[in-house]
Amino acid sequence: MSLTIYNVLSRDKEVFKPIHENYVGIYVCGPTVYDNSHLGHAKTYVSFDVVVRWLRYSGYKVRYVQNITDVGHLLDDGEDRILKGARRERVEPMEIVERYMRSYFEDMDALGVTRPDISPRASAHIPEQIEMIQELLAKGYAYEVNGSVYFSVERFTEYGKLSGRRVEEMEAGKRVAVRDEKRHPMDFALWIKAPPNHLLQWPSPWGRGYPGWHIECSAMSTKYLGPNFDIHGGGVDNIFPHNECEIAQSEAAHGVPFANYWMLTGTLLVDGVKMSKSLGNFVTIKDALKRYKPEALRLFILSGLYRSPADYSAAALEAATKGAERINIAAQRVRDALRASASSSAPDDEATSGRLIDLIDQYRMRFTSAMNDDFNAPLALSVLFEMAKDINTAIDDGTASRMVLEQADAVYRELGGDVLGVVPSAGAAPSDAGSAEREQKLIQMLIELRLEARKAKDYARADAIRNRLAEIGIILEDGPKGTTYRVRA
Ligand SMILES: [Zn+2]
Repeated sequence: MSLTIYNVLSRDKEVFKPIHENYVGIYVCGPTVYDNSHLGHAKTYVSFDVVVRWLRYSGYKVRYVQNITDVGHLLDDGEDRILKGARRERVEPMEIVERYMRSYFEDMDALGVTRPDISPRASAHIPEQIEMIQELLAKGYAYEVNGSVYFSVERFTEYGKLSGRRVEEMEAGKRVAVRDEKRHPMDFALWIKAPPNHLLQWPSPWGRGYPGWHIECSAMSTKYLGPNFDIHGGGVDNIFPHNECEIAQSEAAHGVPFANYWMLTGTLLVDGVKMSKSLGNFVTIKDALKRYKPEALRLFILSGLYRSPADYSAAALEAATKGAERINIAAQRVRDALRASASSSAPDDEATSGRLIDLIDQYRMRFTSAMNDDFNAPLALSVLFEMAKDINTAIDDGTASRMVLEQADAVYRELGGDVLGVVPSAGAAPSDAGSAEREQKLIQMLIELRLEARKAKDYARADAIRNRLAEIGIILEDGPKGTTYRVRA
């Protein structure tokens, strides 16, 4: 079954064909680190986390690059966002960068987002950006005026192909502030001359200055993934001018297509309204995490298509919280039943068992086809919910054989856990999943050793194992189906 991706460039679902067999290079525009990250960031990066997880689960080797913007991203009034943050908190610009880059990763870790393989910073790639600007000048796509360098949109005839905008219409709109030194109002800055006391500036062939925002993404994506790579992602809000400029710069400089597939995530709304500083309805990830569990936030994001808008509201988050609980209880029940069955010798009903295994296979297949259909996470989630019903019934009826439970457990671990990240392993927080699994195995081993001691009539040793576990808060319970354990609250 092949993977299809909705490609914003062609406005169509296309079969995904990687440039190199079994390898995917993906670049996603990262955050500008001058303040705490908000829910819009959560939506974009959880969505791409699942994209990358699914590609890896499907057997691709993935290189995931996501930049950190720490210079050049200007506000409407022309002030650099980093400098604004530094002024607000009265610290060095690079302290702001460190502070909020750490805060960003903290939030992403809390949401169970796998870190990118490379997180390049714009300020650490000034030479690469200068080199690319020189290439654009040499090829006649850019021009220098008074120490600043601009890209000439009229020279790049395909300008507007991603966003569907046309230079002529944009000019007619006259909504763009015209800087006198530009030849065309839509021309954008590649390099900006710095005033003498500007805190972020570097030497360049055109004097001291700093890069325009867009050039960093062109320079860093192609440095780490090559001039032509597989997937470029980001939030749809940056389609114009940012992403459009990235394409123009890269294709003009390198003479080959930039990214083959463009994937853009939908906007995040709060109670039906777009988030904005002026409306005061900004919700940071840290605030949201004070109210809701990470699994619930993740589930909320994944219960809509990545490219559709998502509407954050108390009702939506309550529903997501219930959904996350439902799926975790189902996964936990399977684990508990599996543990109980470890020491049970009841024979399985082969016909029922076979039927249930077929059913689980079908769920797995349906999940796979949902994810292969442009990463349809909401449909994939619904498959897990549906499976929960059948498995619960089978456990209640006592028809879930060990093999059935193992298959169901694998679905929850691999698809619910590894792919969607909404099922924590063995009842632990996602962040210490590995150690929780080890702990569970260790306890299981001690339960088996105790059983062996009892079989050998070495009751003193058997009791010692139970008492020592009780001392550390792990209570063994002997039941008709064998020994289970619970952790003392
Ligand atoms: Zn970018």
